[in-house]
Formats: sequence, C-alpha cells, structure tokens
Amino acid sequence: MAEDFYNTLGISKEASDGEIKNAYRKMAMKYHPDRNQGDAKAEKKFKEVSNAYEILKDPQKKQAYDQYGHAAFEQGGMGGPGGFGQQGFGGFSDIFEDIFGMGGGGPKETRGDDLRYDIAVDLEEAFFGKNLESTISKMTACKENHSYKSCTTCDGYGKVRTQSGFFSMERTCGRCSGTGQEMKGRCGKCSNTGRVKENKKLKIKIPPGIETGNRIRMSGEGEAGELGGQNGDLYVFVKVNPNKIFERDKNNIICEVAIPFTTAALGGSIEVPTIEKKMVSINIPQGMQSGHKLRVKGKGMSILRTEQRGDMIVKVHAETPINLSAKQKKILTDLDSSLTKDNSKLSEGFFNKVKKMFN
Ligand SMILES: [Zn+2]
Ligand SMILES: [Zn+2]
Repeated sequence: MAEDFYNTLGISKEASDGEIKNAYRKMAMKYHPDRNQGDAKAEKKFKEVSNAYEILKDPQKKQAYDQYGHAAFEQGGMGGPGGFGQQGFGGFSDIFEDIFGMGGGGPKETRGDDLRYDIAVDLEEAFFGKNLESTISKMTACKENHSYKSCTTCDGYGKVRTQSGFFSMERTCGRCSGTGQEMKGRCGKCSNTGRVKENKKLKIKIPPGIETGNRIRMSGEGEAGELGGQNGDLYVFVKVNPNKIFERDKNNIICEVAIPFTTAALGGSIEVPTIEKKMVSINIPQGMQSGHKLRVKGKGMSILRTEQRGDMIVKVHAETPINLSAKQKKILTDLDSSLTKDNSKLSEGFFNKVKKMFN
C-alpha cells in the first residue's frame, strides 16, 4: 500500500492549494532525476511526490482521494482509461515545466515571427536621412468574427493523455493548441488558423548618419502571434550604396581631387564639392605633394543621433598636363633643366629614396 499522499508531500489534510503546490515544488526540485542522476531512491521518491501532487492539485481527484483513499484510483475506480493510477504521473519534462513555469501545459500563445526587411540607400540619403514607404507581405490577425466551441479532441481540457509503456504522459492538445477551444465552422479568410497573409504599407524612417550593417527595429511590426500572442518585430537591415565621388570612412568622407601640378607647386585655392552638393573652398599650400590629405572640419557625414558631422578628408593629386603646345613644352623643358641643376628645390622624391637605398 502506497504512503498517504499528504504524508508524501509532508503536509496536513487541511493544506491549502498554495501549500500543496509549494510543498510539491520543494520536493520535486529536491528529488528531480536531473539533479540526482543514478540515484534510484531519489527517483522513486520523485515519482511518489509527483504522483501525490497529480491527485491533490485536482479538486475533483482530491475529493475522491479524501473520501476513498487510494481505492479511488485503482483499476475500475474513477481513473478510467489511461487513468490516474500509481504510475500516472506526468512526464519529467511536464513536471519541470510545472516547476519552472515554462508554460505548464496550459494554452500556449506564441509570439509572432520577427521579420527582416533589407533596404539599400545612397550615401546622400544616409547623410540627410530619409522617410520612405514600403509594402511588405506578412501574417496578420484575421479580422473575421470567429465563434468557438469546445475542442472535440480534448473536450475543452486543452491536454490529452497518452500511455507510453510504464508512463502516462499529458500533452498539450494539438488540435486546439491547449486552448480547449476550436473555431466553429470554417473561416474562408484564414482557414481557421486565425492569421492571414496581408500586404501592409510600412513607413520607415532612416535617420541621418546610418551605416551599412545598422538595423532599425520596428516594434510589433513583425508577424501576428498565434492565439493572441504578441506580434513579432520588424528589423530593417540597411546597406549604404557606394558613391562615385565620396568614400565613407565612418563619420568622415574622403574625396579625391586632381589639381594642376602648377597649383601643387605654387599653392593656391581650389573648390571641392561636399556631400550636400555645395562647394567649399580650400587652400593648397605651396609645394603640396601628390597624395597628401587636407582636412575640412565638419564637412563629413552626419553622425547618427547627433547634430554633429565628421570631417571631409581631401586627397590631392597633382595632374600631369597632356597635349602640350610647343611653347608650353619649351617652358617645361627650361624648368626641367633648371630643376635638375638645382636638386635642392626638389623634395625627396622616389629617385632620391632609391639612391639612398643603393648607397
Ligand atoms: Zn483540444
Ligand atoms: Zn478567420
């Protein structure tokens, strides 16, 4: 004869529902097989504890037990097919869920899926920011009026019992997903799934300064949840297209400009374009070398979530003149012989470096 269920849980017959539950939690945690691997005693105790709780948590079964004791659940008792006999405790996983509140086998609404939406913007759009409208196709809640009745599989209980050898398992009913309810008739719109595919217009706000790899989260704009579950989120993944003139380096913008080699030598002022399609004047110092960089403060990219801007880095290249006239050639030839005679006027260029290397 099995031990009294109240003794098993270490409580009195007058224990409240809360006390029963607490006692069970404590015992189940202590004797759970995952925590007592290979301990047959603990496993036996765990089965007893679970078995006792299975009966005492249910008001109807508890009443029958209080009245008839164990006889209430023996063959031919109120257990019935797949009933609540000595072996009739739920599977380990079910109990673990009970303990840790992981659903507990009740109606399980599910959160809708998150959606990903990819978007490409130009560098100028990334600079200024952009509001755009897009249409996306997603699952939304069916707006038809559905009426419900008790689930025909589980009779409104939400769970079904299956006997698997020694164990009797309680599982969430697949037909009603544990809600105990099913839709009356047939909804032509959603085929009784509660959700329909719909095209939805979406307003996306791209903030100034956005970078490739940034994602914008649009809370609740993902797919509808099932059984009234939360909507998922929509993530807009941003890619910034490369630009023909400007190259981005985080908050800075790099711009390469060609200047006449005479300007590079003599110095002067040039105009360069900025990302916002304005011209800005910069000074070229005398004797500027090809490939040198000049910084224009505050003319770079917008910096995300600030009012600030990075810098523009101007990379200067001295352009070699082509299609020279005879007169121009003469001037350059004269210049060339003058420069060759007076080497000190040349900066330490490539040839000087080579010379040093061979010495
Ligand atoms: Zn059901
Ligand atoms: Zn519907």
